[in-house]
Amino acid sequence: MVMVVMMMLKSNARPRSRPSSILSAAAAAAYCTTAGSSAAAAEADRTIRDGPRNNWTREQINSVYHSPILDLLFHGAQVHRHAHNFREVQQCTLLSIKTGGCSEDCSYCPQSSRYNTGVKPQKLMTKDAVIQAAQKAKEAGSTRFCMGAAWRETVGRKTNFNQILDYVKEIRGMGMEVCCTLGMIEKQQALELKKAGLTAYNHNLDTSREYYPNIITTRSYDERLETLQFVRDAGINVCSGGIIGLGEAEEDRVGLLHTLATLPTHPESVPINALVAVKGTPLQDQKPVEIWEMIRMIGTARIVMPKAMVRLSAGRVKFSMAEQALCFLAGANSIFTGDKLLTTPNNDFDTDQLMFKMLGLTPKPPSLSDEAEINFAEETHQEAISSSG
Ligand code: SF4
Repeated sequence: MVMVVMMMLKSNARPRSRPSSILSAAAAAAYCTTAGSSAAAAEADRTIRDGPRNNWTREQINSVYHSPILDLLFHGAQVHRHAHNFREVQQCTLLSIKTGGCSEDCSYCPQSSRYNTGVKPQKLMTKDAVIQAAQKAKEAGSTRFCMGAAWRETVGRKTNFNQILDYVKEIRGMGMEVCCTLGMIEKQQALELKKAGLTAYNHNLDTSREYYPNIITTRSYDERLETLQFVRDAGINVCSGGIIGLGEAEEDRVGLLHTLATLPTHPESVPINALVAVKGTPLQDQKPVEIWEMIRMIGTARIVMPKAMVRLSAGRVKFSMAEQALCFLAGANSIFTGDKLLTTPNNDFDTDQLMFKMLGLTPKPPSLSDEAEINFAEETHQEAISSSG
């Protein structure tokens, strides 16, 4: 009975679309009038002058977000040029190393075992297959290799986790940045990943705290934040962003950016995903995200988190080269390359190469910090000594 009530509650709970907030836009317009220029202009100037800060109020971010779109685009571009080499775009390849059969109920995800999406559960990929994929990605120009596993968490998966540590070491040894997205992790596991040479750990917040229960019920927002804390404390770069097009209101998009921009340190990477609505998931009928919505998210993310790599992620395949150019102008400086993003389609290699050429973009080299490289080299050396002994 409890189960039935819970299921009823759950099915009533989502998906719930929230209307855009007229009040939020009105408040932002008032800011523009009183300040004499847009909030995007004022906050971009402040960001350029004072550098990154994490004491943003939600109202400030809301005002930036609701600035006139061309103003937001222009000032996002200014911050971008100030904080980064604007021609450089990081290329990351994301590989699903363990696909499907996930126990979680993320409404957008074709890998959840709760939805009938045709994704077949698979075991963890072998080392040979993973290393081969990383090599191929490197040859295609990727400097970061990200491995994704469809798990709620890594706790209790010692054998698989140890295998992944081995993959991390090997790929790092190939001179690539390495990222993992394996669900929730514990403090100790974060430390072990760091020791193996992991560059970044991805764990998205997905949406605002308020809208989150409409999208996922099997783990809490605070559990997500705790994983980010373990990652940060271990000295691994945090990669965390979200998805738009889930039926959320604009205030939820602002809420997501506010949570990210007020973390103790800004994430090193902020993926901005546009929902790829997959048949069989509860969000299969969501309307596609428009380019202007992406530009608002990217421009705002760039102004409030100037140093972060803002990643134009899932859904990019739906945007033309001209639309993607606007995203790069607004402040995006990272993309996922490769034919697939976990299980959904992505832009093909040749089209991306052409885009780089056409837009005058250059691939960002990997940044393997000296300290990390020294630690990694020392550990590899120590291991070589102990295994040879
Ligand atoms: S998003 Fe990740 S945790 Fe959620 S269902 Fe998909 S694989 Fe599982």
